[in-house]
Amino acid sequence: MNNSSFERFQPIAFLGINTQETKIIRSLSQNLMATVWLPNSSKSWENPELVPDNLKYYDGSLSGHLTNIWGEYRAFVFCLATGAVVRLIAPLLKSKDWDPAVVVIDGAGKFVISLCSGHQGGADLLAKLIAHQIDATPVITGASSSLQLPAIDILGYPYGWVKGSGNWTGVMAAIARQERVQVIQEAGSILWQHQHLENNIFDFDSTTTTIRQALIWISEQKRSFVKSELPQVQWHPRVLWIGIGCERGTSKELIEKAVIATCEKYDLAPEAIAGIATIDIKADEVGILELCNCWNLPLKTFTSARLRQVTVPTPSEIVRQEVGTSSVAEAAAICAVEKDLNSLIVPKQVFKEKDQPGGVTVAVAKADREYTGRTGKLYLVGIGPGSLAQITPAAKVAITEADVVIGYSLYLDLIQPLLRPEQIIESFPITQEKQRGERAISLAEWGLTVAVVSSGDCGIYGMAGLVLEQLKIKHWDGKTPQVKVFPGISALQAAASRVGAPLMHDFCAISLSDLLTPWEVIKKRLEAAAMADFVTALYNPRSQKRTQQIITAQEIFLNHRDKNTPVAIVRSVYRDEEQITITTLEKMLDTAIDMLTTVIIGNSNTCNYQDWMITPRGYLDK
Ligand code: SAH
Repeated sequence: MNNSSFERFQPIAFLGINTQETKIIRSLSQNLMATVWLPNSSKSWENPELVPDNLKYYDGSLSGHLTNIWGEYRAFVFCLATGAVVRLIAPLLKSKDWDPAVVVIDGAGKFVISLCSGHQGGADLLAKLIAHQIDATPVITGASSSLQLPAIDILGYPYGWVKGSGNWTGVMAAIARQERVQVIQEAGSILWQHQHLENNIFDFDSTTTTIRQALIWISEQKRSFVKSELPQVQWHPRVLWIGIGCERGTSKELIEKAVIATCEKYDLAPEAIAGIATIDIKADEVGILELCNCWNLPLKTFTSARLRQVTVPTPSEIVRQEVGTSSVAEAAAICAVEKDLNSLIVPKQVFKEKDQPGGVTVAVAKADREYTGRTGKLYLVGIGPGSLAQITPAAKVAITEADVVIGYSLYLDLIQPLLRPEQIIESFPITQEKQRGERAISLAEWGLTVAVVSSGDCGIYGMAGLVLEQLKIKHWDGKTPQVKVFPGISALQAAASRVGAPLMHDFCAISLSDLLTPWEVIKKRLEAAAMADFVTALYNPRSQKRTQQIITAQEIFLNHRDKNTPVAIVRSVYRDEEQITITTLEKMLDTAIDMLTTVIIGNSNTCNYQDWMITPRGYLDK
C-alpha cells in the first residue's frame, strides 16, 4: 500500500539494490512509491511475486545512469556502501538549493543515513521516515538535529513561506554555535515561536537594541539588510493578495509588469504573494489566468454585488457604470483577505503602456494568516499502550512526518523520541477532547499535516470518532483535509498479551465511565455481556470520583459466573510502572484498580495455568 507520508519526496529513485534483498526492498519501495532501478545485466528478479511495482532496467554503468536521471528525481535512496555513493554523487552535486535528497541504507537494513541535502532536500526527514518504516536507526549528522534545534532553512515550509535572500549557511552556523539570533517577524504564523520560547537561541523582542549574532526577518517586505557582515536571512510568508482590474484582452506581460512594479515601489517581496483577486466576470481573462498559471497562484473571484459592499479609498464612477461596482482591484484585494479597508497596503495603481493594448489596475491587501498552498492532512494515530516498541511503523512515520502533533501531555511524553524540533507540539489536558479535535481540524483546514494521538487504538474510546463527528458537523467533503486513521494496539490486547490468551473466544469491551454514557445503558450492557458469557474487558474501571461502578460490575458478573472465574487486573501495561495481577471474580476488588487499569473478566471456560490466563478456543475438545 502506498504511504502518503512519502508524497512530498516524489519522485524517488531507488538504486544499488541487490535482487536477493527482495522482501524488504519490495515493501519499502512500494511504500515509498519509488522507481526501483536495476542494471540490465543483473539477473532478473528471482521470485516473480516479489517484483516491485515500479521496476525499471538501465543500460551501462550506474554512474552513467545516475548522471542521466539526476535531474529527474527529488530523492535518491541507495542500498550501497556510503563510500561508493559519495563517489557516485560527488561530480553531480551543485548546491543546497538544488541538490536532491540522498539517503543510504545499509545492506542489512539496520541504518538509514541522511547523506546529502538534509534540510532543504528533506533527506533528514526522509531518512527518519524510512528508518521508522523498516525499524532501523536513522543516522542524522546535521548540527541542528544533534542540538535539537529547528533547521532554520526549512522552518517556514509547513506554512508555505518562501525563502528570500540571505546568508543561510551563516545563520545556521550561528545557531549551531548556540549564539543568540534575533527574529523580526512582521507577517505569518508565530506558532513556531511558541516552541522555542525557552531554548534561549531566538530573541523575539523586536525592541532589543543590541544586535545579536545573526538576524532572521520574516516579512512580506523585501528588507535591505542592516550591517552587512551580520549573517541575515529572509523568509516571506504568503500574505499578499493582489487585486487586479483590467481591460479585456490585457496581456499577461503587462499585468506581470504592473505587479512587479507595484512590489518594487512598495518594497514588497513578490515571494510573499498569496494569490490574485478580481471580479467574477474576469474569471476567464486570459492574461490573468496565464499569470496565475506561470506563478502558480490561486485566483479568487467575487461578484460585483460583493465588491460593492466594500469601502475603498479610490472608487471610480466609470468603473461602476461598466461593471456595477466602483472598485475592482481594491475591493477584490480586501475581499480576498476577508477584512476591511485597513488591510489595504497598496491603493489602486494604474498601468498602461503606449505600445501595448489594455490597461491594468493593481491594489494589494495583507492577510492576517498566510496562504499555505497545501492540502491539509489529519492523521488520527493510535500509539499503543505506552512503550515505543508497541507502536506500528506506520504510526511512527505519521507522527514524525506531521507538522503538528496534538495530544494529551502524558502521551506526548511517551512518543518524545519520535518528535522533531521543527514540529509544533500542542498538549491539552485530559478533559479537553473537543478542543483538541477542533484545533486539529482548523490547522489541517489551513493546510498543515496534523497528527492527533490517542493511547492504544485511536478508534477505541479515542480521538478518531470525535474528530470524524466534528468534521461531519462541518459538512466536510471527505477529501479536504485528507484523513487517515492509524490503528494501535488497544489496552485490551496489550493487557491480554501480558497475562496469556484470555481473549481467545468471543469478547467485548465495556467502558465504566458514565461521563458520556448514562449509567443505565452501561449496566444493561454489563448484564448482557455477563449473561452471554462474553470475556469482558472493562475500560475506565474506576476513578477517584467514580468508585461504585466497578463494585456493581462485579455484582452483575457474580450473578452469572462462578466466583472463581479468572480475572486479570493490568495497570499501566508496557509502561515503566506496569502491574499485573491475576485473581478471581470474587476477590478482584482486593487489588487496587484505577483509571490506568484494564480489567479482563474471563468467560465460564477461562482457566489459569502457572502465571497465565487461558480462554480455550475449543481445538482440544474436538
Ligand atoms: N484508546 C485507548 C483507550 C482509552 S480509554 C485504547 O485503545 O487502549 C482509557 C482507558 O484505557 C483507561 O482508563 C484504561 O482502562 C485503559 N488503558 C489505556 N492505557 C492503558 C495501559 N497502558 N494499561 C492499562 N490500561 C490502559
